[in-house]
Amino acid sequence: MGLRIPMTAVPQRTALSHSLGALAACLVGVSEYFRYQGALNRVTLTALDFEVVVGALTFTGSLVAAAKLQELLRGRPITYRGQNILSASVLTVIVCSAIYLVVTQAATPFFYVMVGLALVFGLLLVIPIGAADMPVVIALLNSYGGLADSAMGFVLMNKIQIITGSLDGTSGFLLSLLMCRAMNRSAMNVLFGAFGSGVVEDEAAAAAEAKGTVRNISAEETAVLFETARNVIVVPGYGMAVAQAQHAVAELGNILRERDVDVKFAIHPVAGRMPGHMNVLLAEANVAYEHLVEMEHINPEFPQADIVLVVGANDVTNPAAKTNKSSPLYGMPILEVSRAKSIIVLKRSMRPGFAGVDNDLYYNENCMMLFGDAKDSLTKLIGEMKSLL
Ligand code: NAP
Repeated sequence: MGLRIPMTAVPQRTALSHSLGALAACLVGVSEYFRYQGALNRVTLTALDFEVVVGALTFTGSLVAAAKLQELLRGRPITYRGQNILSASVLTVIVCSAIYLVVTQAATPFFYVMVGLALVFGLLLVIPIGAADMPVVIALLNSYGGLADSAMGFVLMNKIQIITGSLDGTSGFLLSLLMCRAMNRSAMNVLFGAFGSGVVEDEAAAAAEAKGTVRNISAEETAVLFETARNVIVVPGYGMAVAQAQHAVAELGNILRERDVDVKFAIHPVAGRMPGHMNVLLAEANVAYEHLVEMEHINPEFPQADIVLVVGANDVTNPAAKTNKSSPLYGMPILEVSRAKSIIVLKRSMRPGFAGVDNDLYYNENCMMLFGDAKDSLTKLIGEMKSLL
C-alpha cells in the first residue's frame, strides 16, 4: 500500500493503518477475555475493557474517516435529530457495561455487547464531522489507537507495547491540538461543531454570482507580468500536490532567481492535507529550506510583493476567515495575499476548496485567474518566460 498510494491519499491511508492497528488491539483483548473467561484481576480487566472499547471505536471511526477522505462517503458532516442524545446514550451503556464487568469479574456475553456498541460508537463519533476536519480527527484516532495499544501492553504485561503505545497516544494528541491551533478552532468545535454543514452548494453559487467579475489571465500575459516583477511570493496548496506541480514550481523559482527576483514560498501550517505537506513536496523538488517562510513571518511581506502566485491553494488564502463572521472559516489565520500588488491564482475552476466555501479573493481587482491544471499552466508559463528572453 505504502509504495502504491499517491502522496495526496496519505491521510486516508493513515486512517486505514490506524483502523487495522486498533482492530488488532481489540481482537487481542477479546481473545484474552475468551481465554481467561473473565477470570482476570480487576486492574487487568480495567485495562482490557479500555483496550477493546477504544480499539473498537477507533477501528470503525477510522474506516469512516478514510471513506470520507476518499469521497466514498459524503464529505460534509452528516447530522440528524437526537444525534447527541443517541451518542451519549451509547457511551453511557458502554461505560456502565465496563464498570459492571470489572466489578463482577464474570464471564458474560455482555462483554461482546459492549464491544459491538463500541464499534457503533466509532461510527457515531466520526459521521457528524466534516471532511475538512478529518486530518485533525485522524490525528486524534491515531492517539486513540496508541492508547488502545498501550492498554494492551498492560493486559499482556509487555513493557515495549506500553511505551510505544503511550508515545503514539501522546504524539497523536499533540498533533491534533497543534492542527486545531493552526485553524484557530477548539478540539470541542472540531468534534462537535459539524463544520461546513450549513454550506449549501446552490447558496454558495448564488453568493459567488453576487460578488462580481473574475479576471482571467493567460500564460503569455502572466509571463509578461513576471518580466517586471522584483519580488515574488509563491503560495502552494493542496492543488499543487494534486497536479504534482512542485518540480515546475521549483523550476519557476530558479528561473526568477537567476533574473535577480526575490522569490519566497509562503507556508501555511494546514495547507494541503497533512501537516508539513507543502514542506515535503517542495523539499522533494529541491527548494532550499531557507526559501520557505512560515505564515506569521511572510504575512507582513505581502504588501511589498509585486506578484503573489497562488498554486492550488484556496481556503488558506480566503479573506472571509478574517472578515465574514458567518463563514465556517472565520477565525482561521490565513496568508494575507490580498495585500499584494497583484495576485495570480492557478486552479482549474471556480470550485471551492476543502471547506466548501467560495473565496472572496478571486473577485478582488488585483486578482487574476490562470485556469487549468497547475502543472500544465506552470509548464506553459515557463515556456513563455524562456521565449521572452
Ligand atoms: P484547498 O482549500 O483544499 O484548495 C485546493 C484547491 O486546489 C482547490 O480549490 C482546487 O480548485 C485546486 N486544485 C485541485 N487540483 C488542482 C490541479 N490539478 N491544478 C490546479 N489546482 C487544483 O487547499 P488549501 O488551500 O491547501 O487548504 C487546505 C485545507 O485542508 C484547509 O481547509 C485546511 O483547514 C484543511 N486541513 C488541512 C490540514 C493539514 O494538516 N494540512 C489539517 C486539517 C484541515 P479546482 O478544483 O478549481 O482546481
